[in-house]
Amino acid sequence: SPIPTPANEPVRAYAPGSPERARLEAELDRQLGAQIEVPLVINGEQLRTGTTQTMVMPHDHGHVTGTCHQAGEAEVAKALQAAKDAAPGWAAMPWEDRAAIFLRAARLLQDEFRDRLNASTMLGQSKTCHQAEIDAACELVDFFRFNVAYVERMYAEQPQSPGSAVWNRLEYRPLDGFVFAVTPFNFTSIAANLCAAPAMLGNTVIWKPAPTALLSSHYLMELFAAAGLPPGVINFIPGPAAQVGAQVMGDPDLAGVHFTGSTATFKLLWKQAADNLDRYRSYPRIVGETGGKDFVVAHPSADLERLAPALLRGAFEYQGQKCSAASRAYIPESLWPQLRERLVAGMEAMKMGDPRDFSNFLGAVIDDRAYAKHAAAIAEAKAAVGGAVTEILGGECDDAKGYFVRPTVIVTTDPRYATMVEELFGPILTVFVYPDAEFGPILETCDQSTPYALTGAIFAEDRKAVVQAVEGLRFAAGNFYINDKPTGAVVGQQPFGGSRASGTNDKAGSMWNLIRWASPRTIKENL
Ligand code: GLU
Repeated sequence: SPIPTPANEPVRAYAPGSPERARLEAELDRQLGAQIEVPLVINGEQLRTGTTQTMVMPHDHGHVTGTCHQAGEAEVAKALQAAKDAAPGWAAMPWEDRAAIFLRAARLLQDEFRDRLNASTMLGQSKTCHQAEIDAACELVDFFRFNVAYVERMYAEQPQSPGSAVWNRLEYRPLDGFVFAVTPFNFTSIAANLCAAPAMLGNTVIWKPAPTALLSSHYLMELFAAAGLPPGVINFIPGPAAQVGAQVMGDPDLAGVHFTGSTATFKLLWKQAADNLDRYRSYPRIVGETGGKDFVVAHPSADLERLAPALLRGAFEYQGQKCSAASRAYIPESLWPQLRERLVAGMEAMKMGDPRDFSNFLGAVIDDRAYAKHAAAIAEAKAAVGGAVTEILGGECDDAKGYFVRPTVIVTTDPRYATMVEELFGPILTVFVYPDAEFGPILETCDQSTPYALTGAIFAEDRKAVVQAVEGLRFAAGNFYINDKPTGAVVGQQPFGGSRASGTNDKAGSMWNLIRWASPRTIKENL
């Protein structure tokens, strides 16, 4: 009988004075003082190349937390060989034994690994305690547990020939080759799942982590090892993206790519796959979740009590560095003055700083490149005031100690103004105020003005407007929200992913994703 659907992992509060808080603070102190040296892991063995990258904290970039060894051509070749060598044994392991490893990883996330991953996500990626907990602890546990339940159901799905002397069955083989996981900085859970989901189905993996999330990636490798993952199943090769990417994409055994990151990088991987097509044994499965320009459309009937907090949280939590973050809003004239007031008050109340101060609501943006991009967009918008920009709320930037960008709202008169259509991946929300009577046309503008289709939300109390938006924006988002912020999809509840330039829409943490990592064989037997 199928195992029951798991419950989502409860979010811990880390209240002042609680034992869980004390443990997390001790782990934060330990990591801060440790000068951690992150090795490559190939075939279960740690490897130090001597060519290293320095790891710093986004909110205190003068503070070096350690170094990470970098893979060169020889190490990438070694990792590719390890993935190939480990493949037959891993594929032959009974499903129940593979599943037990990932369930054990979920169990280990109840204790010290929870602290290790939360602390490293806070220090290395500048997440607040709550943002780390919902990512590196809860979503990660959910990915492991739900995916095991989904694979179990998938394997049970069998064709039949009722009433005949024929036995049909599907054998869920892994892909005929390895999977390349290329992972982002913004979710520790996504980095883990991009490796774990293909591995669960019996594939071996080459993992290229984001250079801005190395501390948490290191502890993920330790978690996999502690859970009993055999050597060679996931091979960890931090290194220069262009070089590592080209070498791995050129390998004849490449059978899949599991990606979350920028649209530009994903397109590059597709092009490399096309260039290498004649060398591959199989057509690689290319699964990716990329950028977004996620919208909030408010109807004149919208409830401000719901709209204002949703915009504040949807646009600014984790400094807007979620693919799902609200970054453009279409607001009816009649609501704007009151909404504006609430946004100003909410933004001013958001404390920003070092995540080790648990009262901070925001940290820093990830690195100098992100900071420069956001600062430039804000400076350009300031120069456009009086033209396409009416006003800017917030907008202060300071990178003296950390890469800090205050929550910013740009109000524009042009629904195609640069920050209304281009992804920034930062704490910047652009607002277009429309005449109340133009709700229909605004839906069309929303649908047509960007190439993306990841998340979006409609705020309306009028049911007809809700229906009109659900229909009018049918292809504008893979995750659509009614009277809720467009972020915070929960595994098992809102399978996540978008289409158009936002990805292949193979919903993370769902059967639709897992099925991509299996290559079923149909076996017909005459009895
Ligand atoms: N799943 C996350 C959410 O719903 C976003 C994932 C991402 O940023 O890639 O907010």
